[in-house]
Formats: sequence, structure tokens, C-alpha cells
Amino acid sequence: MTQGRTMLEITALEKRFDQTAVLRAIDLKVREAELVFVIGPSGSGKSTMLRCCNRLEEPTSGAIMIDGQRITDIPRRDLDRMRLKVGMVFQGFHLYPHMSVLKNVVLAQTKALKRPKAEAEARALEMLDQVGLKHKAEAMPNELSGGQQQRVAIARALALDPKVMLFDEPTSALDPELVGSVLKVMKDLRAKGMTMLVVSHEMAFAREAADRVVFMDGGYIVEQGTPEEVFGNPKSDRLKSFLARVS
Ligand code: ADP
Ligand code: MG
Repeated sequence: MTQGRTMLEITALEKRFDQTAVLRAIDLKVREAELVFVIGPSGSGKSTMLRCCNRLEEPTSGAIMIDGQRITDIPRRDLDRMRLKVGMVFQGFHLYPHMSVLKNVVLAQTKALKRPKAEAEARALEMLDQVGLKHKAEAMPNELSGGQQQRVAIARALALDPKVMLFDEPTSALDPELVGSVLKVMKDLRAKGMTMLVVSHEMAFAREAADRVVFMDGGYIVEQGTPEEVFGNPKSDRLKSFLARVS
């Protein structure tokens, strides 16, 4: 599902840690309702690129626009409001262990968005329903499987009404039998028109659900295209050898 408006645009992004260049001349556009997949070997800069998109990492140079706003120009003290627009889901779920599932999804809404409690709870239940876990609202996180906990983390991010969702290896910590439930949630989100940038090693899912696949290596975007192009007709030797190793 490819629509017109650019939701996320990365231009000439560079990131150095001390003297080491980790991202070099990254250009990437994600249009509204697109699901863009990022693949590449460990250490290629995938997480750093994602983290730059909500300024968890400070770019060394370059620009990032999200929903028409140049987020790389925002003063540090104003980052919180911008971050609400950018939902982020990591490998670990980071739920509060002493709070119910519902409270976990409510908390950021009442704190960060100042949403009234009743409204936040209604929104939380709606988002838990979206990820198939409304019936677990009163459960504690440790009563859930890893896949369910990750779906709660997704609901928590969605409850803040983000414009873009960033996923950094959301299924890597899960037992294989739990991966599918999380991927299904991502597919449902795509069908609803959410804009998503996803770092993942789930190649079968990328083939099936991604609008575009971006291959990173050594801090560069080496190749990008449709899943058919990237998986079916890789051009660079680096992508060919990567695909041979992972599949
Ligand atoms: P990927 O997610 O593709 O595995 P990362 O973005 O995590 O790659 O890391 C890219 C490179 O940047 C790696 O060489 C990593 O060691 C380095 N790196 C990441 N974070 C830091 C940091 N905070 N300080 C120094 N080097 C870092
Ligand atoms: Mg990473």
C-alpha cells in the first residue's frame, strides 16, 4: 500500500561515535502507510539509524523530517513532544513489572499526553483489542508470554497516536512459536495504514508484508527496492552473500 505523502525522510544522515563513522550518507524516504524493512549484518548501523529518528542518538550531520517537521532542528528541551509522534518498539519489552497490562498502556498517556484517566483507559483497551489482548488487561506482565508482552509494548506505543512506528528487532528475543503473533499485529497495523520502519531478520515476513526492503552494510544503504528486487535479484556482492548467510 503506497501512498503519496512522505512521512519520514532521512537526508544525508551521518553518525560518528568518536572518530568512527557508523552511518554515512544515509538517504531514505518512507511514505505514509508504507512498511519499509531494514536488513543487514550485525553492526551495520540499523539500530543507530532508527535511534536517530527520535533523537535517542544525535546525528552528527544530516536532516530527518517526520510528518513535515525537521526533527533534527528541535532543541533538546523540546524533544519529548516530538517523541510522542514516533512510536518505538525494541527487542526487550520494558514493561513495568509491578503494574497491570492496562496500567502499563495508560501510564504514558496520562503522563506524557496529559490525557484524562478515563480517556486513557478507553484508548488503552482499544489498543489492547487491536493487538488481541483486551482480555489480559488486568493481568500482570509476568503472567504473559514474551509474545504477549511484546504486543502490550506495541499497544503502549500505539496509544500515544504516533505518526510513525519504529521496530528494532521486535521478535528477536522471542521463542520461535511466539514470533508469528507479533508479526500478525504488524501486518494488521499495515492494513490499517500505519507507517512503519522495521529492522528485522524475519525474511519471510519481509517478502510477504514489506513495501520496500533496505539493505545496510558498513553504515551505508547498499541497496533498496521491492522485496522481489532485493530478494529475487540482488545486485551487489555484499547483499548476495548476506542473503546466502541468512536464508
Ligand atoms: P546494528 O543495529 O545494525 O547491529 P548498530 O547501529 O547497533 O548496528 O551499531 C553500528 C555500529 O555502531 C557498531 O559498530 C557499534 O559497535 C557502533 N555503536 C553503536 N552504538 C555505539 C555507541 N553508543 N558508542 C560507540 N559505538 C557504538
Ligand atoms: Mg541493532
